[in-house]
Amino acid sequence: MLATARAKLEESLLAKGLRRSAERFAILDEVYSRNDHFDAEDLYQAMHQKSYPVSRATVYNTLEVLVDCHLVRRHHFGDDDNSKSRYEKSLGRQQHAHLVCTICHRVQEFCDPRLHLIKTNVGNTLQFEVESHSFVLYGQCIDENCEAKPGNGTPAN
Ligand SMILES: [Zn+2]
Ligand SMILES: [Zn+2]
Repeated sequence: MLATARAKLEESLLAKGLRRSAERFAILDEVYSRNDHFDAEDLYQAMHQKSYPVSRATVYNTLEVLVDCHLVRRHHFGDDDNSKSRYEKSLGRQQHAHLVCTICHRVQEFCDPRLHLIKTNVGNTLQFEVESHSFVLYGQCIDENCEAKPGNGTPAN
């Protein structure tokens, strides 16, 4: 999986005339080692913790490239315009939808084949070629022991 992702990034950087720097590939490696929905700052901090310091500018522009070549999906969870973009790796991942807790901001994933049916049916009925979709449920986790709840420990993604 990582080899495919690296090849795709290499191709994309070449096509855009961008430098194929070791930093950009290290960022890709970090992204593909994660299973969460992170923001740019999380990624920046993780690179520093792994003693691979890169600038914020490099993190941001590499994420742009990764989104452009479909190696990473960008999400805007939350209804206010200031909500931070969140990212997740996309290669080899199944289509899925999200549950977002508005208190602890934890993101959970779920799959439901009915979403695919809606997409197909609505597309056929309205003569529309659906390319992508985003389905997000907002609410609060009910689990009292949810470690992400304020006071129960550290917030998680
Ligand atoms: Zn919660
Ligand atoms: Zn996800």
